[in-house]
Amino acid sequence: MVKKLIDKLEADTRLSKEEWVCVFDDYSDDDRAYAAEKARAVAHKYFGNKIYIRGIVEFSNVCKNDCYYCGIRCSNSNAQRYRLDDDDILLCCDEGYEYGFRTFVLQSGEDYSAYPASRMAELVKRIKSAHPDCAVTLSLGEMEYEDLKLMRQAGADRYLLRHETATKEHYEKLHPAKMSFEHRMECLENLKALGYQTGAGMMIGAPFQTNEYLANDMLFLREFEPHMIGTGPFLPHKDTPFKDMPKGSYELTLFVLSLCRLMLPRVLLPATTALGTISPQGREQGVLSGANVIMPNLSPAQVRKKYMLYDGKICTEDSSDECRHCLTARMKRIGYEIEVSRGDYK
Ligand code: SAH
Repeated sequence: MVKKLIDKLEADTRLSKEEWVCVFDDYSDDDRAYAAEKARAVAHKYFGNKIYIRGIVEFSNVCKNDCYYCGIRCSNSNAQRYRLDDDDILLCCDEGYEYGFRTFVLQSGEDYSAYPASRMAELVKRIKSAHPDCAVTLSLGEMEYEDLKLMRQAGADRYLLRHETATKEHYEKLHPAKMSFEHRMECLENLKALGYQTGAGMMIGAPFQTNEYLANDMLFLREFEPHMIGTGPFLPHKDTPFKDMPKGSYELTLFVLSLCRLMLPRVLLPATTALGTISPQGREQGVLSGANVIMPNLSPAQVRKKYMLYDGKICTEDSSDECRHCLTARMKRIGYEIEVSRGDYK
């Protein structure tokens, strides 16, 4: 039954809500393998055996928000906070350029008091003038239209803002009352309207997630058609209200990656750090399930341990060139090659 639905998804690139629920309720290991093989073939059709890399600079872990799942939430007084200055961020990009990165992702907590859009716009301009052949991706949380516009006009190419969950009642169980589901969705619409290549996504196995909610996420993604989908397993962090919640399923995460690839064939789909954290071969298996992007860390060694969204995050002991070389070797072992280009959505 599930195989028939996977065939249907491949042919039509969409399923109904009932069909999605059925897929998530009833899938077996065999169905997963079936979807992975098809997803891999689709990825191969569009990207060959090339894997795009994005260097991620986690430039501040200061956050005004208090998401119940996240280790850098403002209520976590055990987090040691840091902020990088603009010169240091630029140095990370310069170093990354040497290693072959042609996309830099600037990610942080929601830290607009220190990094308003005007400052980010200047920073984007500096990065783009130093490295005109590179793309800049921002992942700064929810911002207002005019701010997003300013940074877009400064040359920012892409923006990652996971929707987290497409179900309002679920959103409200993951976030405090002062955060708004509608505002996050509006922000995603604005990003697209401003011409950003836009990334959405959700955690797999987030607390209170049901198969119906996951079905809603798939319907939302099909409708919104993001250029990128960031999705990885939920992993608990010891200093959050969700510290005792079970982690998400590794197998389900891989399955969702395959389903995303079949649903949106050209989407840029990373095998995330969380996937590499939940299993030592997670990122390789992600690629073999249809992912085509890897996002190694370019943050300075001394701050890596402080950007802890969840416990056990990998690569916090390594330097940027170690991460880069480790990934090249990992991809090579499964028959893939790292591509040195911007890797835009086409
Ligand atoms: N402040 C930015 C960046 C957030 S961190 C923003 O709001 O978009 C990037 C992503 O990490 C989040 O969107 C979330 O989906 C994921 N994340 C946070 N905590 C996590 C956890 N405990 N386990 C797995 N993923 C997590």
